[in-house]
Amino acid sequence: MTQSRQLSEKAVDFIDDDYLMKLAAVPAAEASEVRDILAKSLAKEALSVPETAVLLAATEPELVEEIFDTARTLKRNVYGNRIVIFAPLYIGNECVNDCLYCGFRRSNEQAVRRTLDTQEIRNQVVALEDKGHKRLILVFGEHPMYDADFMAESVRAVYATTSGHGEIRRVNINAAPLDHDGYRTVKAAGIGTYQIFQETYHHETYRRWHPEGTLKGDYQYRLDGLSRAMEAGLDDLGIGVLFGLYDWRFEVLGLVSHALYLQERFNVGPHTISFPRLRPAHGFDLDERYMVNDYDFKRLIAILRLAVPYTGMILTAREDAALRREVMEFGVSQIDAGSRIELGGYTEAGDAQRMEREQFTLGDVRSLDEVMRELLEDEYLPSFCTACYRLGRTGEHFMEFAIPGFIKRYCTPNAMTTLTEYLVDYATPETAAAGEAMIEKELAAMEDGKNKEELTKRLNEIKNTDKRDLYF
Ligand code: SAM
Ligand code: SF4
Repeated sequence: MTQSRQLSEKAVDFIDDDYLMKLAAVPAAEASEVRDILAKSLAKEALSVPETAVLLAATEPELVEEIFDTARTLKRNVYGNRIVIFAPLYIGNECVNDCLYCGFRRSNEQAVRRTLDTQEIRNQVVALEDKGHKRLILVFGEHPMYDADFMAESVRAVYATTSGHGEIRRVNINAAPLDHDGYRTVKAAGIGTYQIFQETYHHETYRRWHPEGTLKGDYQYRLDGLSRAMEAGLDDLGIGVLFGLYDWRFEVLGLVSHALYLQERFNVGPHTISFPRLRPAHGFDLDERYMVNDYDFKRLIAILRLAVPYTGMILTAREDAALRREVMEFGVSQIDAGSRIELGGYTEAGDAQRMEREQFTLGDVRSLDEVMRELLEDEYLPSFCTACYRLGRTGEHFMEFAIPGFIKRYCTPNAMTTLTEYLVDYATPETAAAGEAMIEKELAAMEDGKNKEELTKRLNEIKNTDKRDLYF
């Protein structure tokens, strides 16, 4: 299938570099103005781009602490203590692009190129299921071989693979932008979220890192990628920036502009925001100039949480374990765990990371079980829930906010049933004990009544029978 390069109907380049640059450099506002904006966030209202800029300009340590506190509170009030768990599955690293930061770029002659065939996909999926995973994101380089039909086939192969009680219930995609037909094709295969990261919203920087003449070199085609998806009826979308290419404040404003643009034009905002930081990759040295230090990374996560309260936030294993643990509380709602990003890595690689087979190096290579245990010990409720999307309750993040009691009625019980599946089928004894204690605690905190009775019944069914996937 040849891809058309047609833009969406009303495509505009909504990123005005000069405007965002000015906003990224506004002087610090009065504390009272910052506090008014924090109050608006706490009332779960999305912030405007200029309001976000005011939070970015706040550097007074006390005010930054208030921003952190507010993000923590918003996260707790809205999402509770759930963290959704997924794993990436790299399908192929052939790539016609030459993004200078990426180990898969075409000019990297040392990259070992590989595309998993159907049997190899199945083997990876079985290995992931045997660890307890239920949600995957499939990752592709950009190559004529990886057209929408190929992606859809890969998605189907994943869904069709089961192992014991193991099955993958939600497959997301991170890949190049498609044309309208392409999005329809992957949607028909039953995908969850389609993620496209703009990498940098700054035009000149974009040109520098993505050489002209490559497919990805076309800024506008990429920026418009999610609008075409919306037009094609695929409205579960993820945006992202690769932090470290340009000024982080500018990029936060770019993300917020993109979220508001989608919201205004299509009445649906992005489902998730990703904020990867640049990592070392084969044949590429990090340029220190725009690297985001840990403190600013925390600030940007907290500010994004406050600016786009309806959007899930994804923190990946690019970051090391200690930092992941620390920033989780500022508003992260999804993390990957037990991740391997070398092709075939779930069955073949062992523990050592092999640079020439990877896109970049990972910071957190702990097993799923270790990550689960730490989350539980930190009183998070890890969740493998996939209920909303399968029941057609799309826009679930919006529902979480908008429908009173939604989290209590659906999200927390589904987190508990899927966690119990994990504890019964896959956990080590230590993790199982930590998980049991967490479930007891959550049950004790629930109001007595029909819902709690039904949940208790289902938890017991999972423990004592072969019944699984008992979602609300
Ligand atoms: N090839 C598709 C694309 O470029 O959109 C999708 C997959 S790409 C393998 C996934 C993401 O990895 C990219 O969007 C980029 O943000 C990120 N990435 C690339 N190189 C990286 C590096 N050195 N460190 C951290 N993240 C990187
Ligand atoms: Fe290819 Fe994506 Fe890597 Fe760019 S980031 S070289 S498009 S795999």
